[in-house]
Amino acid sequence: MIVVLKPNITKKDEVAVLKEIRKLGYKPHIMRGVERTVIGAIGDERTHQSLETLAVWPQVERVMPVQKRYKLVSREAHKANSSINVRGTIIGGKKFQVMAGPCSVEDEKQLLTTAHAVKKAGATILRGGAFKPRTSPYEFQGLGEKGLKLLAKARRETGLGIITELLSQDHCELVAEYADILQIGARNAQNFQLLIAAAKTGKPVLLKRGLSMKVEEWLLAGEYVLANENPNLLFCERGIRTFETYTRNTLDLSMIPIIKQESHCPIVIDPSQGAGRSDLVLSMCKGAVAMGADALLIEVHPNPAEALSDGAQQITLEGFARLMEELKPFIAAAGKE
Ligand code: PEP
Ligand code: MN
Repeated sequence: MIVVLKPNITKKDEVAVLKEIRKLGYKPHIMRGVERTVIGAIGDERTHQSLETLAVWPQVERVMPVQKRYKLVSREAHKANSSINVRGTIIGGKKFQVMAGPCSVEDEKQLLTTAHAVKKAGATILRGGAFKPRTSPYEFQGLGEKGLKLLAKARRETGLGIITELLSQDHCELVAEYADILQIGARNAQNFQLLIAAAKTGKPVLLKRGLSMKVEEWLLAGEYVLANENPNLLFCERGIRTFETYTRNTLDLSMIPIIKQESHCPIVIDPSQGAGRSDLVLSMCKGAVAMGADALLIEVHPNPAEALSDGAQQITLEGFARLMEELKPFIAAAGKE
């Protein structure tokens, strides 16, 4: 922490600040300039009490942190990329992974048809919401446990691992019983109690970026998972809210190199919520692969026009098979398999 003192303060004021810095467990180093005195307070800012309260002292001009607030998710803590093993599917390794399936589980035929088709095209994880976070209470809320049972049936038939959203702490035990990866949605990305509960199930957690979440907030939300003894965290960029209305959200692909720099955890891109438009999904997938994403999360539906949620952004089974073919050279160019 750097503490900048105001010009022309008395020796007594300076001593009081030094005393407080020591009291809070830091070692002060004084640098006296011509006009100002700057104190470098040495100590781990993540484990010591913050010195930021000093900013309100009359003799202090500014207090500036020098360390990042996240620890376990950071690249500093873990230099190598971490990877997550989901029933033998490694996310964050050499092989590029695609998670695909409908926005919502709607019925057995819809889910099983999609599951078989995405598996055939090369997807390795099946997605599908059983508990849906809908903007309106009058919209389809998901099949709940029945949807989870259908996901389990699809897993039995195809061998695909399952990712599904955990919407509330109330469903924690139930959803964790069925899911291979728990998805924490954009609307819950800073629901810290839910993050703790999800972490404690021991299941891998995919943390979507919140609608207006800054990078540091996202990393700190992820820190909740690792700090609760769950090392299996995936970050998922799914677009943020901007002024633009041409797309549903603004997919921020800069998060790929940023998360790679800041964290060792894998980064997944969701182009479906990202743009909200099926016609843009392929281009955004190509971009994501080329920029070094570890995996994609794509919404696929046998008949998007009749989907009970997110119809405009879901691609067809044929569209998904074509997409997987078109991505091959991009995956190879990115040095992945
Ligand atoms: C979804 O994946 O269908 C979903 C609701 O995602 P998000 O939380 O990113 O909106
Ligand atoms: Mn959706």
